[in-house]
Amino acid sequence: LPVCPKCGNKVQTPTKVFSVIVEPKESERGFTERKVGMYQCTKCQTKFPTVISKQHYLVVAEEQLKQMQGDLKSFQKNNEELEKELKIVKKDYEQLQNILEKDKKESEIKRLEVKLHALEEQVTYLRKEKGKLEQKLLR
Ligand SMILES: [Zn+2]
Repeated sequence: LPVCPKCGNKVQTPTKVFSVIVEPKESERGFTERKVGMYQCTKCQTKFPTVISKQHYLVVAEEQLKQMQGDLKSFQKNNEELEKELKIVKKDYEQLQNILEKDKKESEIKRLEVKLHALEEQVTYLRKEKGKLEQKLLR
């Protein structure tokens, strides 16, 4: 709340509000609008102004503004499309990962089957050799 510069009393509501347009400084673009409230102290009746709010405006030609708004819209559209595509790619990637995982397991199983088969052949061979040896020993 604005405070009376004379007695320090807090003043609730302005008696009047008006806008002041502030010209830009040399390095600035656009202009600033200041909302100024005129207050009157309820105790000592002193009138004093206080800046309520400031708003900076940039001056842009209407054509340029329309162009910028159009650009922004197409940017947003592109962004939405990109996000959709990203989602699809992510899904594809997950599916691919699943397939790869499955393939890995399948090739592992095949490798083990080959090994098992080789071991079985070896066992059969050893049994035969054992049989031959037994027969030799029995003679
Ligand atoms: Zn006062």
